[in-house]
Amino acid sequence: MNFVIPPAPRPSLAVEGTSDRYPLHRIYCVGRNYAAHTREMGGDPDRSPPFFFMKPADCIVENGDSLPYPPATSDLHHEVELVVALGKGGANIPLAQALEHVYGYAVGIDLTRRDLQGDAKEKRQPWDAGKGFRHSAPCGALRPVTAVGHPDAGTIELKVDGEIRQTGDLNQMIWTVPEVISFLSGLFALEAGDLIFTGTPAGVAAVGPGALLEARVAGLAPLNVTIEDS
Ligand code: MN
Repeated sequence: MNFVIPPAPRPSLAVEGTSDRYPLHRIYCVGRNYAAHTREMGGDPDRSPPFFFMKPADCIVENGDSLPYPPATSDLHHEVELVVALGKGGANIPLAQALEHVYGYAVGIDLTRRDLQGDAKEKRQPWDAGKGFRHSAPCGALRPVTAVGHPDAGTIELKVDGEIRQTGDLNQMIWTVPEVISFLSGLFALEAGDLIFTGTPAGVAAVGPGALLEARVAGLAPLNVTIEDS
C-alpha cells in the first residue's frame, strides 16, 4: 500500500528523563474550570456541565522551543493549564475508574487569539480560529503517574518575562480530573494519546513578540517557551 501523498509525521511529546516519546492522538480542552477565571471572562461560575473544544495534535510546541507570533490577531492570550495525558482509552468511563486511564501529567499553555474568540462568541460561531491555530498548544515534558501520582492540589502559575501573571491552585478546579475524564468520555470515545487541557486560573492577558513564557505546576516538569521577535 502506498500513500498518494507523503503522510504527515505523528505529533508526539517528550517524556521527562527518557528519550521515549508519547504519541499524540487528540487534544481536548475544558472551557471554564476555575471560578475566578470564569468571572474575569464575564461568566457565572457554577456546576453546570463542563464544555469542551479541541486543538489539532500538531499544534504542540515543546519546552525550550520558540514559536512565531501567530497571524490574524493583535490579542494573543496565555492560559496556563494542567494537562492530563491518557494511557488508555474508553467511552462512558465511570468516575471511580477514571484515573486508571491516565499515563501522566504536564503543564501546558492554551494560547488563544482572544480577539477572534471574542468575535466568534458574539456571532455565535465556533471557536476554532481563536483556539486551534498552529503553535497554540505549548506543553512541557510528561511526568508519568508512576513518578508524580495524581496531582489534585498545588500551585499553578505563569510568568511573562519574569513577572507573575497567573497564579492559582489545582484544588480550585470546578471539575476535578476524574470528573473531566468521566464526563468527556460520555461525549467522545477517548483513546490512548489523548491530551486534556483542564482549564486556566485567573490572570489571562496578552503577550507580544519577544516574550518569555514560564509555566509551572508544582511537581511537574517546567515549560518555557519564547515568542519570536517579529
Ligand atoms: Mn483554556
